[in-house]
Amino acid sequence: MFDFEFQNPTRIVFGKNSVAKLDALVPADARVLVLFGGSSAERTGTLAEVRAALGKRERREFGGIEPNPTYETLMRAVELVRAEKLNFLLAVGGGSVIDGTKFVAAAAGFEGDPWRILETFGGAVTSALPFGTVLTLPATGSEMNHNAVVTRASTHTKAFFANPLVFPKFSVLDPTKTYTLPSNQLANGVVDAFVHVVEQYLTYPVEGLVQDRFAEGLLRTLIEVGPKAVLEPRVDYDTRANLMWSATMALNGVIAAGVPQDWATHLVGHELTALYGIDHARTLAIILPAMLGLRRDAKRAKLLQFAARVWDITDGGEDERIDQAIEKTRTFFESLGVKTHLSDYNIGADAIDGLVAKLEEQGLTKLGERQDVTPTIARRVYEASL
Ligand code: NAP
Ligand code: FE
Repeated sequence: MFDFEFQNPTRIVFGKNSVAKLDALVPADARVLVLFGGSSAERTGTLAEVRAALGKRERREFGGIEPNPTYETLMRAVELVRAEKLNFLLAVGGGSVIDGTKFVAAAAGFEGDPWRILETFGGAVTSALPFGTVLTLPATGSEMNHNAVVTRASTHTKAFFANPLVFPKFSVLDPTKTYTLPSNQLANGVVDAFVHVVEQYLTYPVEGLVQDRFAEGLLRTLIEVGPKAVLEPRVDYDTRANLMWSATMALNGVIAAGVPQDWATHLVGHELTALYGIDHARTLAIILPAMLGLRRDAKRAKLLQFAARVWDITDGGEDERIDQAIEKTRTFFESLGVKTHLSDYNIGADAIDGLVAKLEEQGLTKLGERQDVTPTIARRVYEASL
């Protein structure tokens, strides 16, 4: 196992009616900016609950943060925070609103051009406003991590940053908040969480026995509860609770501690969102099967472990078992209604030059746990995803 330090400071407040607990979580004298997305937070009544819980605190609201939040929109929130001297942020939404809030938190006091935060992958961040979240979409893990993804609309650049200063102070996780999600968003959540685990698990073995078993437990839980959440018309609290907690645990640092991490599927997938607007999770479902297939030699031991322990595949030769595990993964995504080929989105081979160029433009030329996913390999992955 690699050496590591682990600290996750985010307080999780989990359960039914937990939004009311905001009163105890947000400082009484805070000047709060509530950030949210399009119409869902208002429509579902969550914003009304938030307003009631915040009571008499000074409060401003900033709506309209889009899926794949844009730098341009978020900078308007930064201006509002600065103008009104707001000192606490509250994100109400999914990964996009939470990621956007992290950027606003870091940019509000930033000296110089805030795009530097993304250009330095978060290294330039020296302070951040405190913030909490009310999660409405289990998927990204953003509610308990220090990562954020922001898109510059003007250049179609999807960039990310990470910094310990942008861990949420707290996150309110009420599984009943997922009841209003359409099935495509639930499916996205299952796939995103699944691939988060895979990016931290399917690398090469370092005898991280705890991390491996945790990861396999999360994958098996997602395989169990995902189809129930997405496909069954009856809404079941415990299914949603397990989905929500799995998605949080998938990317809060626990399974990453002391083991190699990949993230090539995410980064190669980001360009599909940046250039073609495909939902984040859907890009992962397209890229992952091709990525695993092409990198099978470097990942062989873990792919065989994944086949045996996650998919119960024990018969056949090594490559046969690996093929079956990848196929089972693809079928799992497809069973949730998430397509796994570029052609499903009418994207053909003529798109690939532009996608690879976008990776190169951002210096993303050595990806993966062995830094061996060069632009040449990324090109082959896109080709194999057609
Ligand atoms: P999202 O973009 O936050 O939300 C997707 C849609 O779901 C929005 O249209 C939103 O509608 C709707 N929605 C949210 N909650 C709802 C509810 N309870 N009921 C009905 N509709 C609801 O989706 P996401 O998958 O959570 O976030 C994706 C973003 O996170 C991407 O930018 C991705 O790159 C990023 N990401 C971040 C991390 C990380 O570690 N920070 C990891 C993976 C991905 P409204 O707009 O109307 O509210
Ligand atoms: Fe993700």
